[in-house]
Amino acid sequence: MKQFHCTCGNLLFFDSVTCLRCGQNVGYDAVADLMRPISQGFRLCANGVGHGVCNWLLPASSRTELCASCRLNRTIPDLGHPPNLGYWSITEAAKRRHLRTLLCLRIPLPTLAEDPQNGLAYDIVSTSRDPALTTGYLRGVITLSLEEADDTWRQINRQLLGEASRTLLGHFRHESGHHIWERVFPRLDWAHPLRQAFFEVFGDHTIDYASALQRHYRQGAPQGWQQNYISAYASSHPWEDWAETWAHYLQIFDSFETCQNLGIRGGSLDLPLVILPLESCALPQNLASSQEADVSFHAWLQRWICLATMLNEVTRSFGSPFLYPYIISPVIAGKLRLAHHVAHLWE
Ligand SMILES: [Zn+2]
Ligand SMILES: [Zn+2]
Ligand SMILES: [Zn+2]
Repeated sequence: MKQFHCTCGNLLFFDSVTCLRCGQNVGYDAVADLMRPISQGFRLCANGVGHGVCNWLLPASSRTELCASCRLNRTIPDLGHPPNLGYWSITEAAKRRHLRTLLCLRIPLPTLAEDPQNGLAYDIVSTSRDPALTTGYLRGVITLSLEEADDTWRQINRQLLGEASRTLLGHFRHESGHHIWERVFPRLDWAHPLRQAFFEVFGDHTIDYASALQRHYRQGAPQGWQQNYISAYASSHPWEDWAETWAHYLQIFDSFETCQNLGIRGGSLDLPLVILPLESCALPQNLASSQEADVSFHAWLQRWICLATMLNEVTRSFGSPFLYPYIISPVIAGKLRLAHHVAHLWE
């Protein structure tokens, strides 16, 4: 995330709705990636005006009422049930932060109704009121459980599932991994170098998904999974490995940008660099890649590990658990490299 500024020069943040210095109401312009006063040819998204859950803007001349994020919603929670508005607001904030990353990567985000091939729709629903629904992805539709916005509910589930971390933002990133996979890989010929690269790095995704998940929930992750997977869940099936890796790539991408924009650089920290083998950050050989791109990814990832060490040390000083409870092994670096390649296909 970057820092934003008001027309008066004051610092603004991605979630800002008012400038605390000049008092102007402000919102986020997703096309220009900046904060603007609500005036000067821009108006607030209808979900901001009507429900106070969105701070994104539209051009005043726009014929639609909803912003680039809210227009992707196919189902929103039942607002007749009082706690839902607060949970929905938290959910939308995580969704906007996630979508900004995809927009920065120039990934087009049409709605499913506009483009049944590449489009996306969100169903944000209470899964405790309708237990037949679960958070997940199916053919362009991301279902997100509204209860994930409830800290207690989410932490209980995190502990029950033995997860190191569980956040709304992480859910959005994970499910977008399934969506991006569907937009890219099944459309390629089997012999296509990118499809072959997926097979080489993530394994055979044609193994039965339902029985793989059943096995995972019955037996857990294999011993020593940390060397090969970014999370225990990633070991369940190549599709989940991809989605977890993609989510992790977006997490590093956003966090790294945040550090950089705040002037925190890996090189300026008084920490030794954790050296990853350069070959672990190279794309599979059948994919044409410049050595320059591999070297720059390698440097980026090593700098990130340095920044993550710093963040972990600071959170230990707060008496909190590690903020970044992950290990980037050479195998995982190779997976992140492929996610990096796919993330930049639209640029
Ligand atoms: Zn201002
Ligand atoms: Zn909106
Ligand atoms: Zn998944």
